[in-house]
Amino acid sequence: MTNFVALIPAAGSGSRIGEAAPKQYLSLAGKPMIYHAMNAFHLTPRITRICVVLAPEDDHWDRYDWSRFNDKLMILRCGGATRAESVTNGLQSLRASREIQDQDWILVHDAARPGLSIALVERLLDQLVEDDVGGLLATPLADTLKRANRDHRVACTESREALWQAQTPQMFRAGMLLKALQTAPVGITDDASAIEAMGYSPKLVMGNAYNFKVTYPQDMALAALVLQEKNKI
Ligand code: C5P
Repeated sequence: MTNFVALIPAAGSGSRIGEAAPKQYLSLAGKPMIYHAMNAFHLTPRITRICVVLAPEDDHWDRYDWSRFNDKLMILRCGGATRAESVTNGLQSLRASREIQDQDWILVHDAARPGLSIALVERLLDQLVEDDVGGLLATPLADTLKRANRDHRVACTESREALWQAQTPQMFRAGMLLKALQTAPVGITDDASAIEAMGYSPKLVMGNAYNFKVTYPQDMALAALVLQEKNKI
């Protein structure tokens, strides 16, 4: 049987948001931010496991009650220095403990995307389950793109045609993803880049603006609004 496993790297410090606590623990709608994405996976029946990769020195996790997720939750305290390292360490640990097989689907999702909905997870699963490579949620670029010179003036305007913004979850077979990450060029910022570096072409599945990544202080207010909207649906 092929399983669908959510893997949430949550070992970042979130320095750009300028708070003492790592951003995955900042409070949103009365819960730590990571709770909301976990909830979307928890409420998606096909997802059998939710694995959260924490930094080994994380002392925030145990301050909260996660019992709601107990039937699917697995905590891995093996985060690394980069997102790619955290995902790689998580996959290695799951494989070593025989929690995953190479053919299982892994949905890697940023802890800082609380706007993920069950409908988006279902769409990704539906569109990729028969795919040979896998893929990711993404949205077509809406704004005009400017390339800056060193003085922060416009060097030129880039065409936005066929450009998409990558989101998560990014869904690949466990074996292929681990191999890709282990051989990926240094500095990649998502899982699909590692797969691309092996010569594959991941499928783009339509995401939505609610699923944005909380990065800067002003993003917190926007995320709170998104969660209010989501709860109305
Ligand atoms: O920093 P950024 O927003 O790009 O992080 C994306 C995701 O990767 C977050 O969920 C963050 O916690 C995670 N991450 C990680 N290990 C790191 C750096 C980031 O798990 N060393």
